[in-house]
Amino acid sequence: MYSKEDDTIFRKHKTEGITIANNRYQRRFPLVILSISLSVISHEKMKKSVQIGQCRIYVEETKTKNFYNDQPLITTNCKCENCQYFERNVVKRDIRLFNNLKAMGVILERQPNINPDGVCCVGDTEKFEKGYLGNYKVFAKFGKTQKEPQTKDENGELKSVRFEESKDDFNCSYEIVKISDEELDFQFWVEVNRK
Ligand SMILES: [Zn+2]
Repeated sequence: MYSKEDDTIFRKHKTEGITIANNRYQRRFPLVILSISLSVISHEKMKKSVQIGQCRIYVEETKTKNFYNDQPLITTNCKCENCQYFERNVVKRDIRLFNNLKAMGVILERQPNINPDGVCCVGDTEKFEKGYLGNYKVFAKFGKTQKEPQTKDENGELKSVRFEESKDDFNCSYEIVKISDEELDFQFWVEVNRK
């Protein structure tokens, strides 16, 4: 028979059951928040950190590499002597810009078929035998950057930062420009072989 005493015991257990369930929920809740923040951190960790002087860049290296794998060779876009020289000689030089781009997954010999050349040759310059204008897109975003000169966008966020690099046999200047939340564009001017 179901007695009044049983009913009291039943309700007590029921209440305790709810309390225990609540405790479990509360104990679990901070863990949920913790795991969400850990996944954000590990997502940032998946990006490669590259430091260029006082400029930090977080790169999606695999995405960048996959993008360049699908692009044509520079000499497929243009077969002129200067473009051949760029693909076979210039990109293989020990220039910090190129070393950093390679570390970010860029395949320097490949470019989208625009301009129609991805890289644009300008022939000889005042002090050098060959000059080139071009850009390489990278899937990346700026991190902490103190490097000057730099520009900011209307929200006060870093928009671009400029670099110069010069040695006896080359002169190189470039600007890294934010073109979207996930893309940076490396716009360069390089001259090689001093006259
Ligand atoms: Zn060409």
